[in-house]
Amino acid sequence: MKYDRIVVGPLEVNCYLVYDEDSKEGVIIDPGGDPQVIKKRVESLGMKPVAIVNTHTHVDHIGANADMKEAYPDAELMLPEKDLPLFKSPRNPMLVMMCRAKESPEPDRLLKEGDEISFGKESLKVIETPGHTIGSICLYSEDAGLLFTGDTLFAGSIGRTDLPFSSERDLFTSVPKKIFVLPEEVKVLPGHGPSSTVGSEKRFNPFFSGSLIL
Ligand SMILES: [Zn+2]
Repeated sequence: MKYDRIVVGPLEVNCYLVYDEDSKEGVIIDPGGDPQVIKKRVESLGMKPVAIVNTHTHVDHIGANADMKEAYPDAELMLPEKDLPLFKSPRNPMLVMMCRAKESPEPDRLLKEGDEISFGKESLKVIETPGHTIGSICLYSEDAGLLFTGDTLFAGSIGRTDLPFSSERDLFTSVPKKIFVLPEEVKVLPGHGPSSTVGSEKRFNPFFSGSLIL
């Protein structure tokens, strides 16, 4: 499994292109903006998108869904089932304008805990991690040791929980229960900012250091 990161939109979202090296089939995670830039990178990698996946449905992570679906009509648009109330709720017009976001098409597939997203010989598993939004998910490859965490967990930080459809209590349950149980060497690839590892976040993330057992 290979991946590439593109920083898109004014809120600097990490859009990831994850693909199978042999077949070049792959998924686009969180196309939040700058569709031309994403398309160019897809082209230069020779990647064939089979899925467009949102880790959650905030505008800055879904703003280029429409353009991606238009460019790759065979790719299935997938988003977390439990985020539907947020997806269907009115969006902040200022943020929509700022992100130059287009109205997202309806999803082709709704994702829930344990689902697998397959591309070529590779796959990503859905782990539900509510908190930043009610339906936020992480995408995990055990074989490659990669975890795409969206806005649930950042290097040294966590996603906001002061927004509608957020829950601080859920986030503080999700991260220790669903992420910190994974192998320490697993690479954390967040929705904003640099990468990290599960082990490093367990030890040094200031939001969780209190729960650490040494
Ligand atoms: Zn978000």
